Amino acid sequence: MAKKYIFVTGGVVSSLGKGLTSASIATILELRGLSVTIQKLDPYINVDPGTMSPHQHGEVFVTDDGAETDLDLGHYERFLTTKMNRQSNFTSGQVYYTVIERERKGGYLGRTVQVIPHITDEIKARIERGTEGFDVAIIEIGGTVGDIESLPFLEAIRQMKTKLGRDNSISIHLTLIPYLKSADELKTKPTQNSVHQLMQIGIQADLLICRTEQDIPEEVKDKIALFCNLQSKHVFTAKDLSIIYELPISLHEQGLDKEILNLLVLESKEPDLSKWHHIVNTLQNPQYSVNIAIVGKYDNPKESYKSLNEALIHGGIANRCKVHLSYIDSESVENLDISFENYNAILIPGGFGKRGIEGKIKAIKYARERKIPFLGICLGMQLTVVEFSRNIANLEGANSTEFNPTTDYPVISLMESQKNSDYLGATMRLGAYTADITPNTLTEKIYGISQISERHRHRFEFNNRYLQILKEKGLIIGAISEKESLVETVELENHPWFLGCQFHPEFKSKPFMPHPIFTSFIKATLDYKWNKNSN
Ligand code: GLN
Repeated sequence: MAKKYIFVTGGVVSSLGKGLTSASIATILELRGLSVTIQKLDPYINVDPGTMSPHQHGEVFVTDDGAETDLDLGHYERFLTTKMNRQSNFTSGQVYYTVIERERKGGYLGRTVQVIPHITDEIKARIERGTEGFDVAIIEIGGTVGDIESLPFLEAIRQMKTKLGRDNSISIHLTLIPYLKSADELKTKPTQNSVHQLMQIGIQADLLICRTEQDIPEEVKDKIALFCNLQSKHVFTAKDLSIIYELPISLHEQGLDKEILNLLVLESKEPDLSKWHHIVNTLQNPQYSVNIAIVGKYDNPKESYKSLNEALIHGGIANRCKVHLSYIDSESVENLDISFENYNAILIPGGFGKRGIEGKIKAIKYARERKIPFLGICLGMQLTVVEFSRNIANLEGANSTEFNPTTDYPVISLMESQKNSDYLGATMRLGAYTADITPNTLTEKIYGISQISERHRHRFEFNNRYLQILKEKGLIIGAISEKESLVETVELENHPWFLGCQFHPEFKSKPFMPHPIFTSFIKATLDYKWNKNSN
């Protein structure tokens, strides 16, 4: 059990940025010398987001220990030094699953099993287990106050708050203050209602963070405070920011961390936010810029590829470079003779399903032939192997068994461990695996070490039956997993920068610790642009 708890809820509308706000508070407290962790509680029934479409729910973030989790955990890891794990995210589905399994085994000794206390007890137990040993635990409740499905979670934190007492737990409520153009006014009523709704459940918000498009004048803050049973100094603003990494700075400048410490009766040193200032400065004053084409399936690219987008920005920070991302629908590439003339690099991200596959292969061929910097991640790596097999090794009919089970040359095939999995949830090859780097390869140049550990989420793999023949034709194997001899990176001869990786490097990139693959990729992209312009 942690020493102090901060419960974060959201009201009025969804998508207010609770995850980023929780991560920002956590980083400030960490910079004050406290040990901090964050837990995300999701009220939906899915056991984890692994079975949900990223187009609906956003990216599935993968932890080192192989949990498929909510994308907010990506923000937490990018902002914190604390690593997330299997216990850092749980859903109603997981809670009910445990309680029902226990009931079937007779664990409740004949009692009637109920939401209160059995479901709420399980929620509390998971919070206590997941936050053990930290000075401060931030518990973010997904969804919006007023949703039927988040009630057991709110009831559980109400119980915890009562038991922990005033000095050991606080509640932060995030709301929206909309601006009505016709009235030229910031409207506080939805916030008042949301705080009242929380109060009906028995939770008084201790601090309010209001999302707005404009600064909130003091008199509006006073009004919010009056109606929400708060002091004005406990009402904070989270104005829309063009750079998300400004949020910790903005919250600290308003004194949010000081108020949190006062309420929690905690003492700590002043935080040094210079690393955040440095990142924001670099992003605001880039010296260079590049255009990268990301060829994939897009309904909701900002959310579906959250970590990837951030990792590319981090690679940009390392090179003082603004990274423009253009999402190109792979189906449109399939049918058109599309030119990538205006781009300085091509990237194929991870993905599932058949749609748009041939378009991605076409884009890979283009990058290979025209020597444009290319990065293929997971599915992107697998398709580079297909493209190479077809067009360089001349294995006509080379394919992935995922898309064509009867292929002549199944260069990408289902992993042995996946053959009996029936495609159920949480059955992929998930989480961190180590790999040995081949000397004198691009992979070695990028990492500068001989062994790496990266995160995975896949069912298919490079088919080692074709390893020899593809190597003979010039495919370079940059890294192989230690235990399973699974190909982890592939490269090309005579190409300035061409890398396919079976793992997802984006999950381990942080703004102040850009992942070496992204640093190197952006550098190559800049070199390519420079050379092209000077020719
Ligand atoms: N669909 C591929 C597989 O399961 C790639 C997965 C991915 O890109 N994450 O192996």
